Amino acid sequence: QAKAEGRNTYRFFEAKMGAQARERRLIEHDLRNALQRNELRLVYQPQMRMDTGAITGFEALMRWHNPRQGDISPTVFIPIAEESGVILQLGDWALREACREAASWDKPLSVAVNVSAVQLYSHDFTQRVHSALLHTGLQAHRLELEITETALIKDTNRALTTLRQLKTLGVRIAMDDFGTGYSSLSNVRAFPFDMIKIDRSFIKSVDKNEQAAAIVKAVLGLGRGLGMPVLAEGIETPDELEFLMGESCSAGQGFYLGMPGPMESFRHLVSGDAQPANKKLVAL
Ligand code: C2E
Ligand code: MG
Ligand code: MG
Ligand code: MG
Repeated sequence: QAKAEGRNTYRFFEAKMGAQARERRLIEHDLRNALQRNELRLVYQPQMRMDTGAITGFEALMRWHNPRQGDISPTVFIPIAEESGVILQLGDWALREACREAASWDKPLSVAVNVSAVQLYSHDFTQRVHSALLHTGLQAHRLELEITETALIKDTNRALTTLRQLKTLGVRIAMDDFGTGYSSLSNVRAFPFDMIKIDRSFIKSVDKNEQAAAIVKAVLGLGRGLGMPVLAEGIETPDELEFLMGESCSAGQGFYLGMPGPMESFRHLVSGDAQPANKKLVAL
């Protein structure tokens, strides 16, 4: 009886794994055609200064509408795109699309684009960034590339060489999801970062959770000591925002300050007659 049950459990497991692998292959196949079929778009989430409440720019986030399955989260399709290599095409598209968008704004706000490790280690990444800037006319300093600390540790020497090349173009570089990787703290100093983004897992309930508060204060101290601005990701409540302002965090981003959305909904913020300050920040 027990043996039979074990076998059934195994068969069930096997069938489930088979279904998952098939699903993955389908997604991979669909992803290869997603660009030509116009299924991808970028949404934008505002980033702002904590002291004045001024919007400094937007992070571009990829969205995919799959006709078979509906909307698929980037947390699902980006890893599949990375494994299959399609991320090179998707990433290039995102880079150009975000640069083209930002170049059309009246205000010289920044646009942040996420860069996968696969892109970072591809042989011609710096040239691709350079050509995106040339083709769109966006000034290099308005482009910020977000790179996770996990991406750096695969080959720190190569990553460092590429980041230095990127810096000579004049673009800015942010360390994304800081605190969740396993890189050494000395990487923050060794790599030419212009900004640290504290991962949102540490911002959640930072006003109530002593451990989270200790970590956030330590990262803010690190940023101050290195002269590097720190942005808090994932601010969802006024209490989290107030805590971060009290700790002199440089910048913020999160659902409470602005949900990611199509650029059309932010047009008034980037046009010449815009009111740049965020009411929630000014009210505090
Ligand atoms: P990320 O770069 O850390 O982006 C921030 C994620 O947090 C976004 O999720 C954003 O919608 C979400 N977020 C922002 N504020 C809040 C908040 O207050 N609360 C919560 N719970 N979430 C918040 P999204 O758009 O689903 O993207 C997830 C991840 O997928 C990104 O994390 C990034 O690693 C990756 N990704 C998205 N777009 C791209 C892309 O164009 N290229 C690459 N390589 N990766 C991308
Ligand atoms: Mg990011
Ligand atoms: Mg992040
Ligand atoms: Mg993240």
